[in-house]
Amino acid sequence: MIIGAGPAGLLLGQLLHEAGIENVIVERQSAQYVLGRVRAGVLERTTVGLLERAQVAARLHSEGHVHDGIGLAFDGVLHRLDLRALTGHGVTVYGQTEVTRDLMNARTAAGCVSVYEAAHVSVHDFDGDRPFVRYTHAGQEHELHGDFIAGCDGFHGVSRASVPSAAIRTFERVFPLGWLGVLAHVPPCHPELVYASHERGFALCSQRTPTLSRYYIQVPAGAQLSQWPDTAFWDELRRRLPTDVADAVITGPAAEKSVTPLRSFVAEPMRFGRLLLAGDAAHIVPPTGAKGLNLAASDVCYLAAAVREYCCEGSSAALDAYSSRCLERVWGAVRFSCWLSALLHRFPDTTPFDRRLQSAELDHVVRSRAASTALAESYVGLPLEI
Ligand SMILES: Cc1cc2nc3c(=O)[nH]c(=O)nc-3n(C[C@H](O)[C@H](O)[C@H](O)COP(=O)(O)OP(=O)(O)OC[C@H]3O[C@@H](n4cnc5c(N)ncnc54)[C@H](O)[C@@H]3O)c2cc1C
Repeated sequence: MIIGAGPAGLLLGQLLHEAGIENVIVERQSAQYVLGRVRAGVLERTTVGLLERAQVAARLHSEGHVHDGIGLAFDGVLHRLDLRALTGHGVTVYGQTEVTRDLMNARTAAGCVSVYEAAHVSVHDFDGDRPFVRYTHAGQEHELHGDFIAGCDGFHGVSRASVPSAAIRTFERVFPLGWLGVLAHVPPCHPELVYASHERGFALCSQRTPTLSRYYIQVPAGAQLSQWPDTAFWDELRRRLPTDVADAVITGPAAEKSVTPLRSFVAEPMRFGRLLLAGDAAHIVPPTGAKGLNLAASDVCYLAAAVREYCCEGSSAALDAYSSRCLERVWGAVRFSCWLSALLHRFPDTTPFDRRLQSAELDHVVRSRAASTALAESYVGLPLEI
């Protein structure tokens, strides 16, 4: 039983299906609503590998774009980090909406059961041998029984919230700022992603396709969309970029616009008897490191392997190791995402001394091959040990 049809739930469902293990997904929203959420867009090679294993990578390979480098802009100058030269690997730019669409289509083709628009979803008896999920659909109450419940229902889901507080420990840092994101049907301003650190705040030039761009600017915590008409957004974005990059920005009406708070959150452990948390249900990272979706994928890789081992070989060893294996990778991603966020943003309490330190560190990152390699290694992602 899988709660949530985000990337974690859908990929888990597909990996289990490939292993011959029956599963049902229960999702609160409609499929259209889930597909409409514009979020991540940078896939590590390990995530691409998992999507290949799940037999859903054909369109990713034909429409996704492999990027061998990223731009780092500060003091009005754009520097290039050659990810491939530094690590032997690049990243793939392919939108989360497209990953979700591919997984949904594969699930439908495989005949796996998904219940969308399920209300009042609740999880029960996961500390015993017979866990079950209760939900209402089209006015009727239903109960699902199975071996395990996978809580893939995101940060605000019901799974983590159902764990007794004495059994769980949480760690959180809320950054006093957010990202205002705009998706627009315009060509990207640069062939690769550009991360910009500027006196006025951070900016990111990202992209989805040669005709679809995703841009972000740092805004104060609590910023409202009504404060940011499209023209104000484009003007502010350009101010934070080196002149040649700013001049290449082509503007257009926002197809989507949203504010995301910056937060880091980890729940420990990630397993509670027969309830196992995965993805944003267990952890959130600031989007600066592009790790959220990739962590969701690595969690469900471990989870699918553990369930397969239990069902096919009768061993609980991988289930017992699930939490610690995931959390090792999670804290690595939290470290990188918090470090990169601190390096690139302006905080309300940033002092002139802090700004000089940021400049010195940015300089070090682009001048020192060792420092560039450390950033690049974390950005392209570490291999998954299964
Ligand atoms: C606005 C935004 C921008 C982001 N940008 C980036 C980015 O640029 N790069 C990056 O790497 N990551 C980014 N992320 C993070 C990334 O999108 C997430 O890490 C990823 O979506 C995690 O997938 P998930 O399946 O764990 O959770 P989700 O995608 O949140 O999916 C959880 C699913 O569970 C469902 N659900 C919730 N409650 C219930 C319930 N009670 N019952 C049933 N179903 C329920 C939800 O409707 C949802 O479909 C962003 C996140 C947000 C919110």
